[in-house]
Amino acid sequence: MNAPQALPYDPDNPPMNPPDGCENRLMWQLARRLFGDHRPGLDGYCLACRPYQFYPCVGRQLADIGLAAAYHQPDGAPWRVPRAGTRDPGRSRA
Ligand SMILES: [Zn+2]
Repeated sequence: MNAPQALPYDPDNPPMNPPDGCENRLMWQLARRLFGDHRPGLDGYCLACRPYQFYPCVGRQLADIGLAAAYHQPDGAPWRVPRAGTRDPGRSRA
């Protein structure tokens, strides 16, 4: 398995318009809107999800996945955003 490549944009400040190389403009625009709506507050909660979810909330995590999924790597494989607390079951050992 090849090491994942760096995303073709700054994941902490993705541009409003889809950058060059974006293959799914609608997915980018939806995910970017979601990204903008779910921001951290000073108290650690998401501003949109307060007082139910700490940041990064599910909305922000979905935005990250959606932004990456709007692209494909040069070899055609989809970008994969690692999720905290998950492991690839094919790589686990007993
Ligand atoms: Zn949120």
